[in-house]
Amino acid sequence: MTKLFLLLLLIPNIIFSSETKDKYAEIANKIYSHATKDSSAWDKLAFMLDNFGHRLSGSENLERTLDWILSEMKSEGLANVGQDPVKVPHWVRNDAILRMTYPWEMDIPVLALGGTIPTPKSGISSELIVVRDKDHLDELGEKVRGKIVLFNRKFDSYGKTVQYRLHGAKWASERGAIASVIRSVSPYYNAHPHTGVMYYSDTIKKIPHAAIPLEHSDIFARLDSGGVIPKVFFYMNPQTLPDADSRNVMGEIVGSELPNEIIAAGGHIDAWDVGQGAHDDGGPCLAVWEAVKLLKDLGLTPRRTIRAVMWTNEENGTAGGNDYAVTHGKEKHHLMFEFDSGVFKPIRLGYTGLDEHFAELKSHEKLFKKLFHPDFEISPGGGGVDIGPMMKAHNVPGMSISGDSGGEYWRYHHSHTDTIDKIDPKDLNENIAAIALALYIYADL
Ligand SMILES: [Zn+2]
Repeated sequence: MTKLFLLLLLIPNIIFSSETKDKYAEIANKIYSHATKDSSAWDKLAFMLDNFGHRLSGSENLERTLDWILSEMKSEGLANVGQDPVKVPHWVRNDAILRMTYPWEMDIPVLALGGTIPTPKSGISSELIVVRDKDHLDELGEKVRGKIVLFNRKFDSYGKTVQYRLHGAKWASERGAIASVIRSVSPYYNAHPHTGVMYYSDTIKKIPHAAIPLEHSDIFARLDSGGVIPKVFFYMNPQTLPDADSRNVMGEIVGSELPNEIIAAGGHIDAWDVGQGAHDDGGPCLAVWEAVKLLKDLGLTPRRTIRAVMWTNEENGTAGGNDYAVTHGKEKHHLMFEFDSGVFKPIRLGYTGLDEHFAELKSHEKLFKKLFHPDFEISPGGGGVDIGPMMKAHNVPGMSISGDSGGEYWRYHHSHTDTIDKIDPKDLNENIAAIALALYIYADL
């Protein structure tokens, strides 16, 4: 080939690359290929979930998991590996029975909702009154007095539907009901109930509160609309014990230029006591931890310190997130980052903070689109339950990552089906890469 021909060949490439080349492109490729080279992250997550189990606050499982994380972080060479003691609520599920006794006999899968009181020791035998929603309950008024109420509120958005889990017991009790049951907060029919936290009020009589699958909620609703009032036997014996000792655990990669400016990134290591807490939130916790480890392993020392934090007790108290804001409030935090939305193909980084930092992040969106998802977006609105206290009390920017789940997250959320087989190793790896890249770029600002 002639020199001229070679030159002509090169010109378009030069123009193309100067237009599109992101200054982090090379680092991004390095991070991506390292993160996606094998299934070691998934294997590590499987080890944690299979050996220590689900991790409700107050449980031995949770504390054994935390011990293991600390020893792993140390042996991996993360800096300043440590723990902060945190007192957490200690509620224990024990047993629950919900049996339809009329018009025929059927045991119904049921889960006590977190924090509920028990039924009387002999259980409750009662008619079950089906209500569509709170307005319907208010319409029925006195008709539910002395009965069990079933809230058959259908899922539209999590935010709206979860109100029945959180507050249903108070609403039913105000009308004189003796117990309440909800249609699980999920759009999926898979015969599994979904648990989660619920609240009482000091001024309203406490009644037992539990969740059943969609299928069974539908059966009751059809009987009711056909003029048959079903009867049930309901028994639960959960316990609320004195607060227990737990910890937030953390490890760092120390910044090269501004080591005293910190990015705290993580998820909540506690989980409901059903399934394995794989999507919520063991997988996301591990993804952030692996992202920090990956930067260390690649020798990509960020300008500022990045601290991987596993917050305790998000599900039924937020004691970990609250404690972090008190214990670490005086340290200069550059960013709080949380991953608590399930492990799916990464599609969005949300950010709440400084306009100029958002603009800089946004300028690298193409890189994320190319690596992770053609629809990847960096958009306003980032946060999380655990990082909320720091964002609020100390005005620290917040960032969160979420995936393209197509609503699938709600299939597993807080149920027996939230196990590691529901996590694709490739999705886990891509989240690790996306988090490592986002944190590295933000630490560089
Ligand atoms: Zn969660």
